Amino acid sequence: MRTTEEWQRLDSAHYLHPFTDHQALSAKGARIVTRAEGVYVYTSDGQKILDGMSGLWCVALGYGRQELCDAAYKQMMELPYYNSFFQSSTPPAIELARILDEVTPPQFGHVFFTGSGSEANDTLLRLVRRYWQLAGNPERNVIISRWNGYHGSTVAGASLGGMKPMHEQLGPDGAVPGIVHINQPYWFGEGGDLSPAEFGLKCARELEEKILEVGPERVAAFIGEPVQGAGGLVIPPETYWPEIQRIVDKYGILFASDEVICGFGRTGEWFGCEYFGTRPDFLTMAKALSSGYLPIGGLMVGDRVARMLIERGGEFFHGFTYSGHPAACAVAVANLEIFRRERVVERVKNEIAPYLASRWRELADHPLVGEARCLGLLAAIELVPDKRIRRFFEPRGEVGIFMRDACTRNGLVMRATRDTLFIAPPLVISRSEIDELLSKVVRSLDETAVHARAKGWL
Ligand SMILES: *Cc1c(COP(=O)(O)O)cnc(C)c1O
Repeated sequence: MRTTEEWQRLDSAHYLHPFTDHQALSAKGARIVTRAEGVYVYTSDGQKILDGMSGLWCVALGYGRQELCDAAYKQMMELPYYNSFFQSSTPPAIELARILDEVTPPQFGHVFFTGSGSEANDTLLRLVRRYWQLAGNPERNVIISRWNGYHGSTVAGASLGGMKPMHEQLGPDGAVPGIVHINQPYWFGEGGDLSPAEFGLKCARELEEKILEVGPERVAAFIGEPVQGAGGLVIPPETYWPEIQRIVDKYGILFASDEVICGFGRTGEWFGCEYFGTRPDFLTMAKALSSGYLPIGGLMVGDRVARMLIERGGEFFHGFTYSGHPAACAVAVANLEIFRRERVVERVKNEIAPYLASRWRELADHPLVGEARCLGLLAAIELVPDKRIRRFFEPRGEVGIFMRDACTRNGLVMRATRDTLFIAPPLVISRSEIDELLSKVVRSLDETAVHARAKGWL
């Protein structure tokens, strides 16, 4: 076994990490995670860290699930790979498609498999445009999405997403044409003097304004995450999604719910659209679909679109070598079987999310915390210099990074987007593990307050 220093030296010599400032990382050295069990990860220098982010929102069932490993092993011995092109199929892909029909809302009976969430959103973009071509309205090709939404990191994913730094790095002509953005429903940061309910309606009505600006005859679809994850856990006001649904229905445009984070129990329902009561035509999925044990994503295609593809025929020129990968599908099947057997989603809704909510609300009393919000097993705090007013620190973002690093030192993975700190722990987390998580958050908040005072930010 190599030492931590050796790992770090080799890492910075050869490995370009995703979403990373490579100069800063090579100066500091990566944290080397070597094993994991339950809700904990362990590093090469022996630190035990409570994984408040489920890896990257994916390890829903926690680490060390023998059944998922056995499913992969068994499938790989039997048939490690075969494709689904050229009129072939494999039992694990068929089995997974069948189970997904059962667990998704009634309008969904078909799935297109991919290797990731980004690829699923690429598929979405192509399928939306294919649909309107088949429907005889090829001029309907504009897709509306939201600033600060995240839909992955392929060129189509980044274009659909509203992360401005990603758009900047695509360059002025780099984004996929025909995608326009409206504002996000981020009340704490952008709500001004409006109540959350008023602000939710205002943001939703931007969709209608944008449709009228583009021309309703040119608009193909709207895409959004039920709760924005990477953008800083933006939980929309209650008025938001019903108004979006009304507008989508009024103009007959396709509606995609990016469920890569919210899918599979994160909100306490199987899918975020069920929590908010919307009726999408597409569900993008990945992450918890396999609890992250093997890479897999997919796009659930609603009846309206599936019927068009099947009835009109003609080849859809799209797919990936690993679409419906047998081993990944076998792991996803085993994952969803455990979900059902252990009643994971029901437990989140009835037991563990209410417990997290009751404990999370206590954080609102801390002097640094301007808001403590949560939904299901998603929870965030906003760090502010003066909790009586909704105003951020100057400079913005530094206190968030300090807090994130304090959490890590204290044995907790918590993520920061600017000064919003958030968690999305494994769905199987226990009450006592939530207590431990909370005490680590409080301790890190206290240390952050001391630091902010010393820096003169408070
Ligand atoms: C992670 C994520 C994606 C992209 O999935 P990858 O598997 O990383 O390509 C897309 N949408 C949302 C909402 C995500 O959180």
